[in-house]
Amino acid sequence: MDNEKKRSASFSKGLLQSGELYQYVLETNVYPREPELLKELRDMTATHPRAIMATAPDAGQLIAMLLKLINAKRTIEVGVFTGYSLLLTALTIPEDGKIVAIDMNREAYEIGLPVIRKAGVENKIEFIESEALPVLDQLLEDPGNENGFDFAFIDADKINYWKYHERLMKLVNVGGIVVYDNTLWAGSVAMPEECTPEILREGRQRTLEFNKLLAADPRVEISLAPLGDGITICRRMH
Ligand code: SAH
Ligand code: CA
Repeated sequence: MDNEKKRSASFSKGLLQSGELYQYVLETNVYPREPELLKELRDMTATHPRAIMATAPDAGQLIAMLLKLINAKRTIEVGVFTGYSLLLTALTIPEDGKIVAIDMNREAYEIGLPVIRKAGVENKIEFIESEALPVLDQLLEDPGNENGFDFAFIDADKINYWKYHERLMKLVNVGGIVVYDNTLWAGSVAMPEECTPEILREGRQRTLEFNKLLAADPRVEISLAPLGDGITICRRMH
């Protein structure tokens, strides 16, 4: 990767103060451990005009760790894009694991699908092309799905995060984990509104509201890890 590319990658994906420091983390801890096919999917995604949406590899590494720690078997993913976090999850959960993966746009998923197939994990994935909220409601119509999931990764449609959370508190079992992505919204949560670039303002407002609600929610333990664009880890307590 040339220096220019390195710089943009580090600033777009990282909240650390220096791009070099982020690059250090990636090169020392993340890239050498990243499964070959996941790297392939990441490289394929890099040329996509919306490549910035893909999950940061360091955040992905933490997600894989969480999946392993709780032996997650049944998971939900909201927001698939080209499938970086999806393939990561599929590679991490056991052979008989299942992922309900929801995205209203199948096109980007099709880009990553050949790599998912090559990895031999397509059988673990149920891709649903839809708005996420009605799918979560539909899942809840079957009492068998209540407490039926161990893990969820939520990475789409920030306006509905709280609505997703309400559903996930029923779908994910006690002791299960929900991870919300982009909870620092490019660092804008700590900027005064008037200094926030216009393009970030609406998302900043939604993120502020969501983070506040989550911090006050007695159903979960939380930890906001400043990886990628900020990921909030919630563990359902009761
Ligand atoms: N986790 C992905 C990135 C997701 S980007 C990765 O690791 O690459 C966000 C995705 O959410 C986009 O693909 C977009 O199509 C999808 N999306 C946006 N709004 C949505 C909604 N209301 N319901 C379902 N998917 C949505
Ligand atoms: Ca994201």
